[in-house]
Amino acid sequence: LDEIDGNFVRTVKRCIFSKSQPTKLLGPLTLAAVSRDVLEHILDLHLSVTQSEDFVHYMSGGKLLPGSVPLAHRYGGHQFGYWAGQLGDGRAHLLGAYVNKKGERWELQLKGSGKTPYSRSGDGRAVIRSSVREFLCSEAMHFLGIPTSRALSLIVSEEPVWRDQFYNGNMKKERGAVVLRLAESWFRIGSLEILAKTGEEDLLRQLLDFIIEEHFAFIRTDDPNKYVVFFSVVVNETAHLLAQWMSVGFAHGVCNTDNFSLLSVTIDYGPFGFMESYNPNFVPNMSDDEGRYSIGAQANVGLFNLEKLFEALIPLLTSDQLHRAQQVLKHYPQIYHRRFHDLFKAKLGLLGDEKNDSYLIAFLLKLMEDTGSDFTMTFRQLSEVSVMQLQKGTIPQAMWALQDLASHVFFSDWVNLYLLRLRRQMGDSDEDRWSRMRKVNPRYILRNWMAESAIRKAEKNDFSEVELLQQILTHPFKEQDVAEKAGYANRPPPWAAQLMVSCSS
Ligand code: AMP
Ligand code: MG
Ligand code: MG
Repeated sequence: LDEIDGNFVRTVKRCIFSKSQPTKLLGPLTLAAVSRDVLEHILDLHLSVTQSEDFVHYMSGGKLLPGSVPLAHRYGGHQFGYWAGQLGDGRAHLLGAYVNKKGERWELQLKGSGKTPYSRSGDGRAVIRSSVREFLCSEAMHFLGIPTSRALSLIVSEEPVWRDQFYNGNMKKERGAVVLRLAESWFRIGSLEILAKTGEEDLLRQLLDFIIEEHFAFIRTDDPNKYVVFFSVVVNETAHLLAQWMSVGFAHGVCNTDNFSLLSVTIDYGPFGFMESYNPNFVPNMSDDEGRYSIGAQANVGLFNLEKLFEALIPLLTSDQLHRAQQVLKHYPQIYHRRFHDLFKAKLGLLGDEKNDSYLIAFLLKLMEDTGSDFTMTFRQLSEVSVMQLQKGTIPQAMWALQDLASHVFFSDWVNLYLLRLRRQMGDSDEDRWSRMRKVNPRYILRNWMAESAIRKAEKNDFSEVELLQQILTHPFKEQDVAEKAGYANRPPPWAAQLMVSCSS
């Protein structure tokens, strides 16, 4: 712990956390959204949620539970490829950890709760728009089956927060909001990096031992190779996570090492985006001019980040262990591709393993790229179309993404290969295939235009659409009347193409 108390901004040394008090938001405060799933299944709480003074203050840092010592974490990171030095929780406060009935340990953290020693030039706040996005997307990712931080609540305030409008450079007055979010751990690659960079080897060892003990219980604490084992787990799990992101078309947007969890869960939702038209060059973040974090670059960026983790571990490894860790890293591309391959095979409803499956997948993705067909709905509609319809070329008009795909001159060639492959799956019926495929191909994802529409209302204190989206995205694989009525499985409206998201949050 930092010996100095207080929220004033500074360079912090020889510690992992600083005590820091959340700064109360200007009221009145409104509970804009809450996750019942988090409340009940993570926090074991079965209370009725209220707009009471107490409740909204506890959820936003205005009041603290007795004994709570809020902390801001010191970390560093590589941002857009370069070492950025001390970053840290500049607008987040760790409230504490809760061990639930299942024995899981969850860390509760406020985001947007005011300045800390790590705020640098920032104001410690988060605006409604980015908070709605984080709240909705982290919950949506969980229900897509992707490891992620969670969100318990979203509190909006009357606190003025000034943010630049990236398209014209002007500042605009927005309003502050706080998300109470949870993760099994908030430690990042940057948590270790900063200690290695500053030569704080004892702390580095202490922190890593703590992380291994708390979160990698299967690694024996007296194992002389425990750091290499730890590293190989992170390499594996990160590869898996990135393959999972690809399988739903998720682009994180800011894959800096400070935003990459050591537990390989998705954290720090900023200018993320779900790819609509299939395009490996899809960049969700307007401010990422070079497309460093384009969706197709993510897997490689994962490797870059793991190399940075490896570098942070160097002071703790013997030369033999160093060599072994390097070998682990060499396997990353293979691990990623294997996982990617399996996920996409499942998306196509393929059983078993055949030599040409990779070709079948790559061929389809190429057709999708050429035609710009919608990533989510192409796979979903492949989970709804019958073998007969594919064979006869009678794809229903309502299957708009498949219609787009079918405009390709090589579509029938791909269909023929696919049908031949399906035919070799003895006893597999349309119904069986649909039921498998519909469990992995969502019908609803958080498209930018959907989030934007909900945000515009939320900024006028109408949270109905946030709630609607939250409710629908809790069951992304299940066709729902309300979602169909809202057009969430339709071709995106024309104005969606104009939307831009930046780092401003
Ligand atoms: P991000 O790009 O969101 O991962 O943030 C990078 C770093 O900037 C982290 O250390 C954040 O805590 C910090 N940061 C971002 N926004 C603010 C803000 N409004 N006030 C203080 N710190 C911030
Ligand atoms: Mg971050
Ligand atoms: Mg962020």
